[in-house]
Amino acid sequence: MKYRWVFLLASGALLFGQGLPQARELERLGEGGREVLVLGLEAQGFDKLRPHQRKFAYYLYRAAIAGNDITYLQNHRFALDIKELCEVLYTHREGMDPEILAGLEDYLKQVWVHHGQYRHWDHVKFVPAKLSFTQLQQAVKTAKKNGAQFHFSKDEPVERALVRLKPHIFDLKVEPVLVNLAPGQDPVKTSASGLYDPGLTLKEIQALPQEAQTRLNVRFGRKGKRVVAEPFMIGGVYGEQLDLVAFWLRKAAQYVDNEMVEKEIGKDGVKVKKMRYEPVALQKKALDELVAYYESGDLARFQEHCVAWVQTKGAVDYLNGFHEVYKDPRAVVGSFEANVSLRQDSEALDRLSQNALYFEGKMPWKDAWKRAKVDPPVAISVQALVETGDAGPISPAAYNLPNGNEFRKQHGSKNVVLQNVMLADSPEIRQKTLEAFYLPEDQELIKKQGDQARLWQVYLHEVIGHGSGQPDASLEGADPSVKLGGVYSALEECRAEAVALYQVADPKLVEIGAVKLEDQPTLAQAMYLQLLTRQLRANGEATGDVLRSAHRRGGQAILNYLTQPGKDFGVAVVEKEGRFYVQVADAQKARIGVAEVLDKLQTCKSMGDRAGAEAFFESYGNKVNPAWQKDVQTRLAAIGRPRETAFVFPTLVPVMEEKNGREVLKEVRLEAKETLAEQMLRFRSWGRSRELAPK
Ligand SMILES: [Zn+2]
Repeated sequence: MKYRWVFLLASGALLFGQGLPQARELERLGEGGREVLVLGLEAQGFDKLRPHQRKFAYYLYRAAIAGNDITYLQNHRFALDIKELCEVLYTHREGMDPEILAGLEDYLKQVWVHHGQYRHWDHVKFVPAKLSFTQLQQAVKTAKKNGAQFHFSKDEPVERALVRLKPHIFDLKVEPVLVNLAPGQDPVKTSASGLYDPGLTLKEIQALPQEAQTRLNVRFGRKGKRVVAEPFMIGGVYGEQLDLVAFWLRKAAQYVDNEMVEKEIGKDGVKVKKMRYEPVALQKKALDELVAYYESGDLARFQEHCVAWVQTKGAVDYLNGFHEVYKDPRAVVGSFEANVSLRQDSEALDRLSQNALYFEGKMPWKDAWKRAKVDPPVAISVQALVETGDAGPISPAAYNLPNGNEFRKQHGSKNVVLQNVMLADSPEIRQKTLEAFYLPEDQELIKKQGDQARLWQVYLHEVIGHGSGQPDASLEGADPSVKLGGVYSALEECRAEAVALYQVADPKLVEIGAVKLEDQPTLAQAMYLQLLTRQLRANGEATGDVLRSAHRRGGQAILNYLTQPGKDFGVAVVEKEGRFYVQVADAQKARIGVAEVLDKLQTCKSMGDRAGAEAFFESYGNKVNPAWQKDVQTRLAAIGRPRETAFVFPTLVPVMEEKNGREVLKEVRLEAKETLAEQMLRFRSWGRSRELAPK
């Protein structure tokens, strides 16, 4: 059969060449506005889509919103109740004491941003900055006067719910960490994660059959004396939400792209070739299998979905499923996340992907651990329209999914760079950060090449970093991630980041047009400076004396390795007038250090050497540097830089019309004017509604 990709015109040509939209600063949350910077994200090109593609995007958008609550449930068993309580209070706030209202509002917004009472990246609990328990009780009284109805499970009265939730809202010592990976402690028992019933231990999980232990989509509970692994599915765990997600996905499946297909049609014994439009089979299959997976909990169906999804190329892209494992203390169970995005032209990215095998050959580790065959990874650059669950309002810059070494070896993966998210920042904060954290002699370089360096850091990290390398033959097909346990995520992030730093100096980048020959040394210089400075800053953003997020532990390991005493890798953290700065004197020497890091990490990964990996991160990656922390905190306070950035996404507005006495979707418009509270309250009602255009 011959295919003609009709929609390519709309995706590539029209989106190309448009400048990136700016983000709007909307508000700052937390004490002194220091916790979260809220930016209003914009996207361009939606109006250039064909009408049915806009409808396709809209149904996927509704599916993403319908799953948002799952992340609360996964983060903590009471997180959704905390949100419910605060949202009902907030929507019944008339006549509320202004001070109480301000305290409630600030806390609720942070609960929205993080999906519960634990911070998204470092997994540490936070409590209301300006709200006491007595004030919360007062707020309940006011709201009840205004007719508030609270919906907790088993029709629990709000007074009793308040008592139950009090320590989880106000006491930092109660279940302080969502994911606890401190050495020597039971990660399951000491983590607050909603994926396990309280009191369960790692030993109990390890006593379950292998299938349950390694399964991506289960929650562990206690039934009497038994420990059970219950799948995420309609009619099972998160069944209510998944039912609605599937409802919208089924609608989306009716609007996949069409393609012109040549068909042979038999007529009076004569075969005639005819061209006709048919739904793009891969797009349709990806959605059908996803729905079947939510209906059955059967991972074989999810695998089928992923196989089709990885190859799917449409003007509208999406993500929907349980993927990343950062929020599981065992790094096995996936977090729900969903998004909808618009593809952009990305020629340089395509060329990078075409050369993945070349870069694999240049990796600084043993040949036996290099893949002999690398299918060019699917790599796309998009503008995010919405992200929910674990993917937003706090968003990654890019992702490479699905996970799983076996899958990647057979079917590859899809690398998606979220360009509008990645480059969004408040211009004011951007300038102040530059001046506060870079030496004067480096500021011009970062200004000139910082964005380009960041872009290629992400491309290299995602496109050739995560997918590289292979397990040693002695592992006999065992998945290194299972062998490495909780340390796997940090190792993998560190490895991908180091790949970016290592390969940025490769001549191939000039050949594929990523950078001009004369600019390559400074691009590499900018990437080292920027990545390591970002990491130095992370020390000041951390609470306590250990780093918790996999990305931050990975970055710390590289920074500490390159600046360790007794070795000269051309990189130093220098102190000037009591302030610390990263100095990169020789990026070529630094590359030698990065090669050593990569060799060590790949050895641990390929051999499944858990003790080795843990020892490496204990030496270089886990600990906060107290001197850097103190200094960075002062500087961050001086420029008022919030710890996190969260996004308010554009709104997809359904335009309805009447057809044969029925309200149908006529058109979809894109707007960008909501506030965080407006968006989240809309998600609250839309996330539970089957109406095409909820009021
Ligand atoms: Zn990564």
